[in-house]
Amino acid sequence: MKKILIKGGKVVFGEEVLTQDILIEGEKIVAVGDLPGIQAQKEYNAEGLLVLPGAIDTHVHFNDEFMNTKSVHDYETGTIAAAFGGVTSVVDFSNQIPKKPLLHTLEKKKQEAEGKALVDWGVHPVITDARPEILDEIPLLVEKGAPTIKCYMVYREEGLMIEEEDLKRIMKNLKTAKGMLLVHAEDNHIIEKNISSMIKKGLTEPIYHARSRPPEAENKAIKKIVRLAEHTQAKVFIVHMSTAKGVQLVRKAREKGTDIKAETCIHYLYFTESQLEQEDGIKWICSPPLRSFFHQKKLWEGLRHGDISLVTTDDAAFSWDAKLIGAQRFDKCPNGIPGIEVRLPLMYSEGVQKGRISLNQMVELISTNPAELFGMAPQKGTLAPGADADIVFFDPEKKWTMGLHNLHMNTDWSAYEDIEVTGKVEKVFSRGELIVDGEQFLGKKGRGRYIKRMLK
Ligand code: MN
Ligand code: MN
Repeated sequence: MKKILIKGGKVVFGEEVLTQDILIEGEKIVAVGDLPGIQAQKEYNAEGLLVLPGAIDTHVHFNDEFMNTKSVHDYETGTIAAAFGGVTSVVDFSNQIPKKPLLHTLEKKKQEAEGKALVDWGVHPVITDARPEILDEIPLLVEKGAPTIKCYMVYREEGLMIEEEDLKRIMKNLKTAKGMLLVHAEDNHIIEKNISSMIKKGLTEPIYHARSRPPEAENKAIKKIVRLAEHTQAKVFIVHMSTAKGVQLVRKAREKGTDIKAETCIHYLYFTESQLEQEDGIKWICSPPLRSFFHQKKLWEGLRHGDISLVTTDDAAFSWDAKLIGAQRFDKCPNGIPGIEVRLPLMYSEGVQKGRISLNQMVELISTNPAELFGMAPQKGTLAPGADADIVFFDPEKKWTMGLHNLHMNTDWSAYEDIEVTGKVEKVFSRGELIVDGEQFLGKKGRGRYIKRMLK
């Protein structure tokens, strides 16, 4: 088996950052430590660089059909952009297909990924119609490695919403099957009412997207899901949490012993709702919406104190033409921001460099925790011997300006433009194979593998 030796990098490992060597054999890490006198076919000098476990993004939408359009990130373009951002594993959402068994959510993604995916990938099935035969399939999905099932508490008109009684049933089934519910927590009733009254009054600019989905709408849904989690004892994970109160609610529920966790997304940590008041405000239309600086500050605190368990991107890359559908009407704008590539450099630059979180916390939030909470550990999320050799060389000193011209996402626009960043991905290995080397992409289409996940 081919041996690769990585020498002298600052290796981030658990609570520590140590100058160490890493030996790779084939697809796996076989040794970490001071490794003098080892012969390898290939050696890389990582002096002056951070050596991190490959980042994991458990919240992406590839080929997603939503609001009459389709995201432009597929398993090829999406995973290339991911890799340039240091991401070596993604987990994609797959909506239930009307009249088809739930298992088709998995089969559909296998077809989409085949011959295309460049990094490893997994699937979160999304239930949008909780009829009995769908619920009966939950154990099968868990067994097939997709134990994390998402439901929406909002988007009734789009046909995605699950009502409370059905949510309870899904949660009970997930508990028995050893799965976990992922939930988009926003209160549909408040939002639907706000949107229609704003549109009637002619309040159609992008900022009204945020006004129509106030923090209270999210908090109300979080309270409800906390209550259901207490009641059913099911494992629950709140996706893209954006409010200060949410952080508090999740912390309190966990103090009481409820098995509930939450993530936030990179855009809530970098942008505030004032973006929506710009002329090109539709770029930042996403749900939940961007919040004020106060909420952002509380999210960073929540990350530092461990109340929020991960940071994802919620990558939903719609073309500029598609976003323009919402230029005159915020409610017609496809919700989503392309971001799969920007998370690691921004978390380093905005989080670690600015002293909001430690380097080790950053690695936990984007690699170790997602692997552990979503059933990919110890194969992913760590540089321990036995793990997949998913490794990122990161230059912590390099300063650059992020924008459409140097990002690799497949969009003709960028929400992340003219952003000064410290720290850049230099090399990326996926299962021992160098797939990104500076500006070069070296991986072959279709090399990415399905990650069969199992929760602890
Ligand atoms: Mn969502
Ligand atoms: Mn999403």
